[in-house]
Amino acid sequence: MRELLEGGRPGRLGVAVPGPLSVREGVVFKPPNLHGWGEVPLRAMLQDRLGCPVVLENDANAAALGEWWRGSGRGSRHMVYVTVSTGVGGGIILDGALYRGASDVAGEVGHVVVDPAGPVCPCGRVGHLEGIAAGPAIVRWVEGRLREGAPSTLRGHHPLTAEDVAAAAWRGDRLAREAFERAGRYLGWAVGGLLNLLNPEVVVVGGGVARAGAVLFEPMLEAARATAFPRAWEAARVERAALDDRAGLVGVAYLALQG
Ligand SMILES: [Zn+2]
Repeated sequence: MRELLEGGRPGRLGVAVPGPLSVREGVVFKPPNLHGWGEVPLRAMLQDRLGCPVVLENDANAAALGEWWRGSGRGSRHMVYVTVSTGVGGGIILDGALYRGASDVAGEVGHVVVDPAGPVCPCGRVGHLEGIAAGPAIVRWVEGRLREGAPSTLRGHHPLTAEDVAAAAWRGDRLAREAFERAGRYLGWAVGGLLNLLNPEVVVVGGGVARAGAVLFEPMLEAARATAFPRAWEAARVERAALDDRAGLVGVAYLALQG
């Protein structure tokens, strides 16, 4: 990063990090991908080393801001962003501003219970959406069905990824289609609940698993429609994310420009 900054000092630097974190204090708590780290005062550390003000944001919130500012949510006042990849995350824009809640937790779409009898979520709680609809959860479900003897072109495919399952679903593989129908349905129930709770104009769905397209979106939209109040459903459009992996970058750029 220091090399990148050699050409000149930026006025402000925006950084997107996986939560949990305190935006106000600039502290990341036990980052899940950095084993053995406790509380990391990342903002102060970066400011000290780089000599410019730093803005920290949760990566899913940053992506939500990016999609709202320059992506599929452009022009809306109320938007919900849902990302489905190795986890399920999200961000909420209300009245044209990111809604962070009382302690920067808001928007954790992946950690609402959609099946109390469901599997343990990576966060340790039971029945959360992420433990059912994220990429690794889709793969685990397919692997379980394969062990039970379900016929599929995915048999013997090692290591199996959510991308492989999506490709098989598009080829018409019945087990793969079922896997995406199931994930889509659970996502749709959560989206329908969000429509009733927040009444947004747009729900933007992104992340690697969402790239599967219609095999995920069709069951998701059907379940969302069945769950939402008609007035909430009719007021909203559900869109695919436009910025892909760049959404977080665009979002922190927005925050850095805001100061
Ligand atoms: Zn969870």
